[in-house]
Amino acid sequence: MKCSNQLIRKTHTEQSHLITQLLGIKAPNITILDYKKAGSHKEVFAKLDYPAPKYLICQGQTGKYDFQKESKIPYLECAGYKTLIRLRKRRFRCQICGNMTLAETSLVKKNHQIPGIVNHKIAQKLIEKVSMPAIAESLAVSTSTAIRKLKEFQFKIDLT
Ligand SMILES: [Zn+2]
Repeated sequence: MKCSNQLIRKTHTEQSHLITQLLGIKAPNITILDYKKAGSHKEVFAKLDYPAPKYLICQGQTGKYDFQKESKIPYLECAGYKTLIRLRKRRFRCQICGNMTLAETSLVKKNHQIPGIVNHKIAQKLIEKVSMPAIAESLAVSTSTAIRKLKEFQFKIDLT
């Protein structure tokens, strides 16, 4: 994985495209707005948006509303830097019942702030017998998250 400073000199579209590639983000509805160094880590500012869908419950057409307050998603290391994604999700409002719904992405499961790829890395490190605080540190997640993963992982092993 390369993460060179040349990134900064690229045009915005190219830069956005490169960052999504570097981070392995395969979510077409996510647009990278900015990318900056913040102390010991890097931050990616992104938004999640797509054409207004139908509201699931009443099937009414929704319209674009505002963006939700950003959620912080810890992400993988990129050339030694922990990378945090600050993602703002589009809110849609149903034109019939007025209920709100939030844009969804496969990057993060609903009500879940740890992307699947980070879960995968935790499992991988657990196999390699990396200590829990070291896993938490290297993946920028809490120790309790790493421990919870370990339990889920052991549960899967018990089942096989
Ligand atoms: Zn509705």
